[in-house]
Amino acid sequence: METKPYILALDQGTTSSRCILFDRGGAIRAAAQREFPQIYPRPGWVEHDPAEIWESQKQAALEAAASLGAGAEQIAAIGITNQRETTLVWDAATGEPVCNAIVWQCRRTAERIERLRADGLAEHVRAATGLVPDAYFSASKLAWILDEVPGVRARAERGELRFGTVDSFLIWKLTGGAVHATDYTNASRTMLYNIHSLRWDDTLLDYFNIPRSMLPEVYPSGHVFGTTGLLGGEIPIAGAAGDQQAALFGQCCFAPGEVKNTYGTGGFMLMNTGTEAVESRQGLLTTIAAGTGGPVQYALEGSVFIAGAAIQWLRDELRLIDSAAATQEICRSVPDAGGIYVVPAFSGMGAPFWEPYARGTVVGLTRGSSRAQFVRATVESLAYQTNDLLAAMKKASGLPLRSLRVDGGASANDFLMQFQADISGAAIERPENIETTALGAASLAGLAVGFWKGRLQLLENRRAGRRFEPSIPEEERIERLKGWGRALGCAIAWAQNG
Ligand code: ADP
Repeated sequence: METKPYILALDQGTTSSRCILFDRGGAIRAAAQREFPQIYPRPGWVEHDPAEIWESQKQAALEAAASLGAGAEQIAAIGITNQRETTLVWDAATGEPVCNAIVWQCRRTAERIERLRADGLAEHVRAATGLVPDAYFSASKLAWILDEVPGVRARAERGELRFGTVDSFLIWKLTGGAVHATDYTNASRTMLYNIHSLRWDDTLLDYFNIPRSMLPEVYPSGHVFGTTGLLGGEIPIAGAAGDQQAALFGQCCFAPGEVKNTYGTGGFMLMNTGTEAVESRQGLLTTIAAGTGGPVQYALEGSVFIAGAAIQWLRDELRLIDSAAATQEICRSVPDAGGIYVVPAFSGMGAPFWEPYARGTVVGLTRGSSRAQFVRATVESLAYQTNDLLAAMKKASGLPLRSLRVDGGASANDFLMQFQADISGAAIERPENIETTALGAASLAGLAVGFWKGRLQLLENRRAGRRFEPSIPEEERIERLKGWGRALGCAIAWAQNG
């Protein structure tokens, strides 16, 4: 029985590095956060300085631990969760990166992916990795570093360099270069890993000409990767998972059919599909869910490009609201959106429609349309888009939907959550602790070292915050969804007739 009182979670995100300490009851006892610079060398390019990733993460950890007076002797294990897909290459002897990290958002390799499609590999990528070929994933970024950074290819071929996503890099730094490893969830976002055979994919490694000596060992997400002396004595690093999979685990979506949705700037939905890797023809991704060993579980993943960003647009561009939080009362001040539908397809539509040339569309305006109705229609669009993903997942998996678990900034909006329940005809569960990403990383690490005895204990720790039950008649639900479908049709027609 592990007697130390805390688990430390490192949450290495796209704009900041955070650290949270959890106690045995799953409560947050300390937290610290450090932002770090985004580097935009050219339009569409996004980089991070690996030293800044490491320093910000280290400082956040030291600060959070210090605020509790917790040293290594109080910390049972460390769990890591991270921005996914972001790609780093460093020297195995010195730990020195060969260039900045290429961030998941970076579009510099978009043409390389077009070439991959032209070369007829899209179907192989889908079948082996569960992904739709895209520059987001690590493969083309790693190929770019090998091909474009002077001298790198030769050094890699001599076995001198290591590749990793952010989790690997942190594990490497934390263990002083002793461990080069990653977990299934992060590996499954590289577009180089076969999610069925659980091996790096030879066809893709050959296609991108990637030396095998660069690749990390892959382990379950809950696993003792090594130990670190970061806080004095040795602490096991016992968990690692990509942010969305960590959130799925943190939401205790352990059973097939359990789904979580994160309402952040964009929206991310993952559904646990159990030991079956469900294929989707609607552009959903198939990915590995976080686990602690044994047969791997899979998840379906889909994203909404513009979710909370539509609320920011109301505030910053249209200036219809003072704050995101104000939308709740404004929405409640009118009985409905007065027939307005806002489709915030500002940068095209993702799953399940895939219409890159779609743009934002507003339908149903009348002379009497009010600010409150317009705001409400925009907030409602978050729920409609989420519902479209949910419907696609239900269809692909054939699994009944038990409930939708939510987190992320906009999940604080009670009006939106009730509307989601109504429109989806499903209960919405919002946990008290919406820091589900960090909790997921902590949970994986805590299970791996016996700090928590099993998943049952995690479920017991889970404090239900609020539950929203569907409250509108079925006919009304169908009517509203019909209106949304027509509005989508307008947005798609605008794109296709252009
Ligand atoms: P990210 O992690 O993507 O930065 P967060 O999870 O912090 O995002 O959520 C922030 C987003 O949620 C912002 O886009 C903001 O507009 C939106 N948001 C925050 N609070 C509310 C609210 N009460 N109602 C609606 N949207 C909100």
